[in-house]
Amino acid sequence: MKVLIIDDDPLALRIACARLARENVGLLTAQNGREGLALARSDRPDLILLDLHMPDLSGFDVIRELKGDADLCMVPVIFLTGSGGADDKVRGLDLGAVDYVTKPFDAFELCARVRAALRTKRLQDLLMEQAHIDPLTGLGNRRALMDRLERECERLRRHGGSLSFIMTDIDHFKTVNDRHGHSVGDRVLHEFAQALQQECRRIDLPARYGGEEFGIVVPDEPSEQAAILADRCRRRVEALAVPLREETVRVTASFGVSSADPETADPQTLLRRADAALYRAKQTGRNRVCSTDGAAWCT
Ligand code: GH3
Ligand code: MG
Ligand code: MG
Repeated sequence: MKVLIIDDDPLALRIACARLARENVGLLTAQNGREGLALARSDRPDLILLDLHMPDLSGFDVIRELKGDADLCMVPVIFLTGSGGADDKVRGLDLGAVDYVTKPFDAFELCARVRAALRTKRLQDLLMEQAHIDPLTGLGNRRALMDRLERECERLRRHGGSLSFIMTDIDHFKTVNDRHGHSVGDRVLHEFAQALQQECRRIDLPARYGGEEFGIVVPDEPSEQAAILADRCRRRVEALAVPLREETVRVTASFGVSSADPETADPQTLLRRADAALYRAKQTGRNRVCSTDGAAWCT
């Protein structure tokens, strides 16, 4: 696990590093708040030790920024403070820190507090992972999808670029259940999920939105490229054959594609537009891809 230490005092940094050298953690250091925030964004530490009193950007400012950033708000912060009154401690904890250590630190206490914070972080990571996985398909669940959409929209509004979203729904899935039973339906859902996963790039996020409806977050691609990906998925699903004892089950799926406007990107609009395009794909014959820009694909 990685620990980032932010302190403007080089001596304090050296001492903290020396104390933590024997803990089994990677150490990153920054000498001011800006540098620390940049390192936190690029290196995703598991814990941040943060000096409160720094010129320029204080520890309070840094923690406020961290807690306001969707990507960083879950990183625990232990702040480093002088032995002064309770005011700083109360303020730091109220801003979202998990703990504090008073300077000059006792070697054993610093290490023990770091270990305790990392234990909780490990547990938190595990719970977060569990809370974001759909057990039937192994893909991300609706929460994973919404979290990722939220973060990608935020990134798009800040840095510009492209962001697309695909919504897909298995065609006439009810008949699969009716004909072959619910457990075969479950198997088809699993195979369908694998098919989507195999067509996606590592940065895409395919996830189960609910029932037999799935979403794919497609960062960095405009609508036309996302429609090409959707059509590859569509063909892969069409080629799926789930073997039963005496026959094989085949399904098709319909796809709706939308893309976000960099200035106003928000998850609800992306979802609503992809859903409208999906509805059109269903209305115009199923087993096809429709985009919000009016393009329809059926190869
Ligand atoms: P359409 O082409 O219009 O989408 O038709 P459809 O039959 O796929 O749609 P409908 O919404 O009528 O039916 C969806 C079915 O998906 C009904 C529901 O029982 C089934 N389903 C939802 N979740 C699960 C699941 O976890 N396992 C199984 N086996 N079936 C599920
Ligand atoms: Mg369906
Ligand atoms: Mg449905």
